[in-house]
Amino acid sequence: MSGLEQQYVQAAFASNWVAPLGPNVDAFEAEFGAAVGALYALALSSGTAALHLALLHLGIGPGDEVAVSTLTFAASVNPILYVGARPVFIDSETASWNMDPELLAGFLAERARQKRLPQAVILVHLYGQSADIAPILATCQQYGVPLIEDAAEALGATYQGQSPGTFGTAGIFSFNGNKIITTSGGGMLVSADKALIDHARKLATQAREPAAHYEHTEIGYNYRLSNVLAGIGRGQLQVLGERVAACRRNFAAYQAALGECPGLTFMPEAPWGCHTRWLTTLTIDPAQFGADRETVRLALEAENIESRPLWKPMHLQPVFAGYESVGGAVAAKLFADGLCLPSGSDLTEADRERVTAVVRSVQTAAGR
Ligand SMILES: *Cc1c(COP(=O)(O)O)cnc(C)c1O
Repeated sequence: MSGLEQQYVQAAFASNWVAPLGPNVDAFEAEFGAAVGALYALALSSGTAALHLALLHLGIGPGDEVAVSTLTFAASVNPILYVGARPVFIDSETASWNMDPELLAGFLAERARQKRLPQAVILVHLYGQSADIAPILATCQQYGVPLIEDAAEALGATYQGQSPGTFGTAGIFSFNGNKIITTSGGGMLVSADKALIDHARKLATQAREPAAHYEHTEIGYNYRLSNVLAGIGRGQLQVLGERVAACRRNFAAYQAALGECPGLTFMPEAPWGCHTRWLTTLTIDPAQFGADRETVRLALEAENIESRPLWKPMHLQPVFAGYESVGGAVAAKLFADGLCLPSGSDLTEADRERVTAVVRSVQTAAGR
């Protein structure tokens, strides 16, 4: 928390308007839409809820398929299953670790020939960096497949000067506790399509029809954000730039300390925009580094420093066994070698030095 959140939370208490909805929610939607350059924004209880509503609005259901990045968090994929559809996992490229545009193009071309195109593509922007949106959007437009952007991890990033999440039919963001800004829990659905946001807003409010009594013609959900949490979001949004700067400082310090270590490669920053470095991530080539990722992780853990492997790709997850995968070796290799270093925006120089000292000591112990 920055301290700025308190005034908005206080206003909610002072007006006794804590839930549901209220002035903070309306203002948070407007301020967030302006910040990312989205025409319409809908504040929700989570990013996962935002994805679910986007799929529901598009009418995706049993028998349908949705192509989705394989290297991601399960929350990108679970909503596909909520609506009864099947995921098809698309591998990463190496410039940004995000969905490979050429693989997607090949897959959609093949499916177009077979007259069984997927009903949507969910494109994930990982670890604070945008995917290569332009070719992916062009491919989706060529085949008339809606593009949903999962920008949960990429708030504050840019692609050709514009926020990821604002290129496709809909975009989603998350304010979960681990994200670059947080409302403790929350999410946002954005779109340039007013009808999409209006429908999602209705679905998120138990699908109540506009009538004095309670009238329902479709199944709804309880997915709105409370007025208290939206107050936290308003304060957090004001420090987004500072948070991005702090995360990029973490990265720069780690890179300065470890950039010369043989076999250690930081996640690249692709030429198309700003990487927030929400998390500082790297890969370790055991042959060159002298030790593998897990050895480094355990050495950090022995010093009471938590680091984590990258996302385990969805095509390797037991729960998604049996679904189609297009490629997968790039994401699998990133998972085998990849590590997320401690990346909190409140890390001190001393914290980072503790981390880099352990990583270097592993390499020294390996005789490199
Ligand atoms: C966090 C996250 C989500 C889900 O957001 P919640 O607000 O936690 O539901 C979705 N996709 C990705 C890639 C995420 O990292």
